[in-house]
Amino acid sequence: MKRNGFERPYHVLQILSWILLFCFSGIFYFIMIPQLSGAGVIVTSAFYTVFLISAVVSAYLTTKCDPTDKLVKVQLEGTPVEPSEFICTLCKCFVTLGSKHCARCCRCVYKFDHHCKWVNNCIGKENYNEFLWLLFSCIMLTLCGMVTGNYIWISLVVNGPTDEAKDWLKLNWVSKNFLLAGLLVCSLITTAVFFLLSYLMMFHIYLICKGQTTYEFVLEKRKMKIEPKREVTTTLDTTTDLLRTLSNKIVITENNSFEIREEISERMPRARASTPEFNYENV
Ligand SMILES: [Zn+2]
Ligand SMILES: [Zn+2]
Repeated sequence: MKRNGFERPYHVLQILSWILLFCFSGIFYFIMIPQLSGAGVIVTSAFYTVFLISAVVSAYLTTKCDPTDKLVKVQLEGTPVEPSEFICTLCKCFVTLGSKHCARCCRCVYKFDHHCKWVNNCIGKENYNEFLWLLFSCIMLTLCGMVTGNYIWISLVVNGPTDEAKDWLKLNWVSKNFLLAGLLVCSLITTAVFFLLSYLMMFHIYLICKGQTTYEFVLEKRKMKIEPKREVTTTLDTTTDLLRTLSNKIVITENNSFEIREEISERMPRARASTPEFNYENV
């Protein structure tokens, strides 16, 4: 059983998320900020730093949290509990109503939302708020990166590098075109991530308004997909019943109509077709 996201095995996306955060923060502080001048440097740096700390703290809390059902935790510690009608056969424990077993972590999580690969942990009742906090922090970080990045490369194209940027470029031996291409790529990636995260945040706000978890939402969608199929099956059953009734009538009332009876008998199941009333030799 896995207790939290810092326990092995680590997920590749979890490692990638920390690398990306480190790389993009480096690009922001050491490439983007030197292109700015005046109050823009202080305001942008302060904004980014606040949300960078916020993202790191919330990511740590979301990953470190153990969202296992408290009833399961108590039983694993050896404390006897009152028998409940809800039992997880995999955990071999009594569980709280609303718990769901996570196959990846091998434990039951109360108010299970989803298993997040980016933090390598289940998101449930215990760490859902921290997860939303992390999501919000990342949206703010990408917003800052998107606005700053786009502003800088547009300014570089329109006005050319500022005096500060010229010194920086000279100092670091980075050509203007290389800088422009790099900034453009970073801005595009940040913009795409910003819209994806914003969409995810809106989805979670929608779920909160509905009082649902992501897991319950997925279950509801699956159920809705299955139900129209049942309707089609019902329609087909009704058609088959109608056909059977019709074929029975034909056999009874139209004894001379061989062609019609043959067409109908082909559509009938074999068991029914072999009954005396559909056997042509008996007609
Ligand atoms: Zn379980
Ligand atoms: Zn899990």
